[in-house]
Amino acid sequence: MSRPTKAVVNLSAIRHNYQLAKQLTKQPALAVIKADAYGHGATAVALALQDIADGFAVACIEEALQLRRVGISQPVLLLEGFFTQDELAVIAEQQFACVVHNQWQLQALLAEPLSKPINVWLKFDSGMHRLGLSANDYLTAYQQLLHSPNVQQVICMTHLASADELTDPMTHDQLARFKQLVQPLNASVSVANSAAVLGWPETYLGWVRPGIMLYGASPFVKKQPDSATALQTAMTLQSSLIAIKTIKKGDTVGYGATYQAPETMYMGVVAIGYGDGYPRHARSGTPLLVNGVRCPLIGRVSMDMLAVDLRPVATNVQLNDPVVLWGGGELPAHEVAEWADTIAYELFTGITRRIKVEYMTNMSDL
Ligand SMILES: *Cc1c(COP(=O)(O)O)cnc(C)c1O
Repeated sequence: MSRPTKAVVNLSAIRHNYQLAKQLTKQPALAVIKADAYGHGATAVALALQDIADGFAVACIEEALQLRRVGISQPVLLLEGFFTQDELAVIAEQQFACVVHNQWQLQALLAEPLSKPINVWLKFDSGMHRLGLSANDYLTAYQQLLHSPNVQQVICMTHLASADELTDPMTHDQLARFKQLVQPLNASVSVANSAAVLGWPETYLGWVRPGIMLYGASPFVKKQPDSATALQTAMTLQSSLIAIKTIKKGDTVGYGATYQAPETMYMGVVAIGYGDGYPRHARSGTPLLVNGVRCPLIGRVSMDMLAVDLRPVATNVQLNDPVVLWGGGELPAHEVAEWADTIAYELFTGITRRIKVEYMTNMSDL
């Protein structure tokens, strides 16, 4: 009846992972659901977490308004603040919390009379050199915000650049700079992303901001902290075999004929490609699950299809048998991502509108 390609998202897994972040840190947690909840569907994820989440974080006001439209009444933080001054009236009206990361935002916020005061997350650039004020500007900005009638509370925040690398000294350096700056202020603070929640207890200083871990993917590429084993995969990307054939030694597969059969062998074709968000750069050898068995991708990924070496399942396979591209507990997205020289974040957010998303919930959560 229809193309078998879809993503199945287990909302109970996302609840479990959110609760894991809270249990590990014993701190309030903003569920980071920017970029359509990393491709999992922001509305569905927010509604699934509504009764347990302390708040949500998104990239911009468009994403925040989408949450209010579906009835989310918790705090929603705009991680990049506002882009144009006219957003301020809406931010105050909707009571969004707002990052301030540069002088332009600071002055705009101080200058515009707001209908209601808002919570401001004042960002310190502790070494990532992306967004945030320098140490020189920070304390003045903090005092100005504290005394502004537009501001209810100031939360001091920073963002870590290398927390996904447990042996990298940068996290210690960033944390030391942040603590030195904010400790005298006696303010609420926020440091930890998913990698910090899973691997750096010294960052549990206040509000935590877990993103990728909510979806059950580990941000760590090399050594994994023990806590990462407790994550539950939320998304299973799946399709099925739409062709099975035997090719002879020396035959090539796909565009550019980049794969050559080393012997006479079974191969299959799966109905998913880069038009669905499967990475075109996935190399021959990238694992897929055919009937639950790991089989390697062969040749170049096409727009709507890709080819798979069926030797590991031998003759134990039929047309329309299920294929998992990532997920299902057996095949972590970060492992597939490595074969395509990318990260799980990009795989998830790269899922295209062509993919149907089906939601499921464990019975115990109903
Ligand atoms: C995206 C983002 C997060 C979440 O990061 P993860 O690595 O997905 O946990 C936290 N804080 C800020 C400022 C972000 O932009």
